[in-house]
Amino acid sequence: MFKKARLLGAATVAMIVIGLIFAAFPHPQEAMAGVDNGHYGKKAKYVFFFIGDGMGMPQISSTEIFKGTLDSTNPMNKEKLNFAAFPYQGMQATNSANTFITESAAAGTALATGHKTNNDVLGMDPTKSVAFKSMAEMAKEKGMKVGIVTSVSLDHATPGAFYAHQATRKNYYEIGQAMVNSGFDYFAGGSLLAPDGAKKDKQNIFELAKQNGYTVVNTKEDILNLNASSGKVIAISPVLAGEEALEYDIDRTSALSLADFTRQGIQLLDNPNGFFMMVEGGKVDWACHANDAATTVRDMMSFEKAIGEALKFYAQHPDETLIVVTGDHETGGMTIGFAGTEYQTFFNKVNKQKVSFEEFDKAINGYRQMMGQGQASLEDWLPYLAEKFGLTELTDYDKSRLSDALAASMTDPKKRNHDPNSYLLYGSYEPFSVTVTHILNQKAGIGWTTYAHTGVAIPVFAQGVGGELFQGYYDNTDVAKKIMNIMGVQYQ
Ligand SMILES: [Zn+2]
Repeated sequence: MFKKARLLGAATVAMIVIGLIFAAFPHPQEAMAGVDNGHYGKKAKYVFFFIGDGMGMPQISSTEIFKGTLDSTNPMNKEKLNFAAFPYQGMQATNSANTFITESAAAGTALATGHKTNNDVLGMDPTKSVAFKSMAEMAKEKGMKVGIVTSVSLDHATPGAFYAHQATRKNYYEIGQAMVNSGFDYFAGGSLLAPDGAKKDKQNIFELAKQNGYTVVNTKEDILNLNASSGKVIAISPVLAGEEALEYDIDRTSALSLADFTRQGIQLLDNPNGFFMMVEGGKVDWACHANDAATTVRDMMSFEKAIGEALKFYAQHPDETLIVVTGDHETGGMTIGFAGTEYQTFFNKVNKQKVSFEEFDKAINGYRQMMGQGQASLEDWLPYLAEKFGLTELTDYDKSRLSDALAASMTDPKKRNHDPNSYLLYGSYEPFSVTVTHILNQKAGIGWTTYAHTGVAIPVFAQGVGGELFQGYYDNTDVAKKIMNIMGVQYQ
């Protein structure tokens, strides 16, 4: 009896001691919750947020295998992307407030503000009446400098989510107004879709920018001369492709790439109060919508180079910098594996493609105007397909698909019937062009399921201050909350 009581006493003392230890050192899950609620002690002075639009795991894995074929005779060679080697990795669910398959406005809003909204709504709640504050706006209020860089137009959904609040992402003029009223320090990449308004009856956005103290530059020399004393700058690529975007990297004639705009931004933004910089690889998404793998992996490599510029800065400031890399959703339902190639892949075939689908479309358009319907022949195109796509071994089935698609491409684009069957084959793309990339990609062992987005979870990669918070599987809105926390601004 006595002995038992003594044992109980010892157990009670042990429990009290353990309890005290737990009080002093909270359970790991409680610590994580505290961190997410704004109690993370250390703050990052420099924050980089890289968003690959349309970048899911298939885009990353494909680029790693593709890069491996470039400089190796070993067919099993692959090259890990720089950000895939970051020490902390997690996953985010991407669904919007109203669909499991999100789009860039709702996804951008989640990543920039930490709030879900409906597809097409930018920086506002689903009722389109409440504006959500973005991490970039919070950083600016805190006294940090802010930069927004993208390979597409500056008023597009992803960059817009960091400074604009509109009922629809298509309000390009109003988004442009918000941009020049943001007070942010650096906007760089493409131009604007409607600088004079949809009816071209409004005051020019670039004029408004100058009134608000921005310098607008669009030459290589001016852009490469940007530095810490340049003031507020809007830097537009000297060469623009369709939709006021940078060229696809596979077609690039401009001396300036996304990496150049990122590096110049770092030089301009670096200051004692720190900075926040969002860089979007925006055309990975566009190439995936068109089911064009070669153009996709080339733009992925350009995005990786831009991240390389942040890594150079990180090497100088490892204890003060956070780099987060993620996508907003996957596009195209891209995958590695196709019924026709079973367990094999032939990514070296993708390397033979020399032009994007967009450049190919121009050639098809020229041919249509020259030939008219009825005179088109696949034979005319065989040398082009061999030279620009490396397609030299075509089966009878390939040729039949290509002939049908060429015939469909010879009808006036304005008079095409968009019946469900032709949508399944070609989406809203140039039929001949999308059939060529489908055949080439399938021969390489790459499959596509859609011309839109998909609803799969997306990987998140983090390095630097607070990087450990990005481990686990969470919501896309949590990515924003974690960054805000580490940056020392309050989620609202
Ligand atoms: Zn997107």
